[in-house]
Amino acid sequence: MVANSRDLVIAGLLRRLARMQQLLIVARILNETLDLETLLRYIVETAADLTQTEAGSVLLLDSKGEHLRFAAATNIKPSALRELTVPMENSVAGWVLTTGKAMTIPDIHRADFFYEGVDEVLGFHTRSIMAVPLEIHERRIGVLEVVNKIGDRPFTDDDMESLMILGTLAAVSIENARLFQQSDLISDVVHELRTPLTSIIGYSKMLLMMDNVPAAMQKQFLETIHREASRLGDMVNTYLDLARLESGRAQLHREDVDLNEAAREAAELMHPQAAERDIELTLELSAPACTAHVDKARLHQVLVNLLSNAIKYNRPGGKVHLAVTPIGGQARIRVQDTGEGIPPDILPYIFDKFFRGEEKEGQAKGTGLGLSIAKQIVEMHGGSIEVQSVPGEGSTFTVILPLETS
Ligand code: ADP
Repeated sequence: MVANSRDLVIAGLLRRLARMQQLLIVARILNETLDLETLLRYIVETAADLTQTEAGSVLLLDSKGEHLRFAAATNIKPSALRELTVPMENSVAGWVLTTGKAMTIPDIHRADFFYEGVDEVLGFHTRSIMAVPLEIHERRIGVLEVVNKIGDRPFTDDDMESLMILGTLAAVSIENARLFQQSDLISDVVHELRTPLTSIIGYSKMLLMMDNVPAAMQKQFLETIHREASRLGDMVNTYLDLARLESGRAQLHREDVDLNEAAREAAELMHPQAAERDIELTLELSAPACTAHVDKARLHQVLVNLLSNAIKYNRPGGKVHLAVTPIGGQARIRVQDTGEGIPPDILPYIFDKFFRGEEKEGQAKGTGLGLSIAKQIVEMHGGSIEVQSVPGEGSTFTVILPLETS
């Protein structure tokens, strides 16, 4: 009997030691991962793994401190995450965040409160839950949750200890990754803004310093200043739009939208620009019409961006074709051009922020943000965007959108 209980204690200690060793490895990986998305994915997978549960998730407080949003979950597609919010009142995550205390609910049916909205959206059935706060310097930034112990066994003290330690480590890493991301973006932006700013300062200084500048030269300088200042303004606005989209602060205002209608509107808007370059813009609509539950203005923004690129990077007298096709439960929107095409070595980067191909003579300089914004918008809708291109022959951008209606 005595030997037996001693064996149990030793077995317990060995298990704990193994867990601590595992957590040390986790701590090292968390420390080394600076990409926020990869980091969050690793945290939720590790949480589920350490506690032997069906799913793990991280909810983060938005920048205004008003809403808790899913930032990662093992059982939710990243595209569906952004729009999943959990109320502060009457939810486990809300309670943990507000009180700063950990919580275990062994049986959801007997819980005083539980927010069922997420299960309803996901078609997932939560039976039990354990949640700990994510806290850094006494500031709560979110909640780490695991649900449904595998085999429906009860949660143990070991589970709670592991999740608390993981939560402490995770909070620091999330904060670091966020700071790193911000400084990275800021330095990109500052770098990009410097070019137009340098020419504005240069040309205005010349105008100020030179006496008797001939009228023609004066006009030329002023035109350059005006063009570069407008570009600077465009870059700032476009960048702010992207920052809003990336931070999850931009909400989609979804409604049922006839995709034929959306394509027609975008094509009509771009018609003058195409005509100016002697480019034929053709439209192929879906029959019967297909309706998607999307943000109309954001979809318009994507289509206009793709058409504008197809015109801008085309040759005079070329063609641009916009086609809407329903395929299964999805809609395919294609923008095809007969332009210069995209070299294979830069093709993987064209959706990256600030990425611009080589500038050609007489081509308007872009911000290099259009395609990253388009991608962000399409993915927020649960869709995808891809490109195929043959240098010298042209490029095809394909957007796939889910066709669910409200
Ligand atoms: P911008 O057009 O402002 O430079 P984008 O993000 O819209 O930025 O596009 C990034 C780069 O991808 C462009 O600079 C260009 O090199 C390339 N690109 C985009 N669309 C096309 C196209 N239809 N044909 C050829 N190249 C394209």
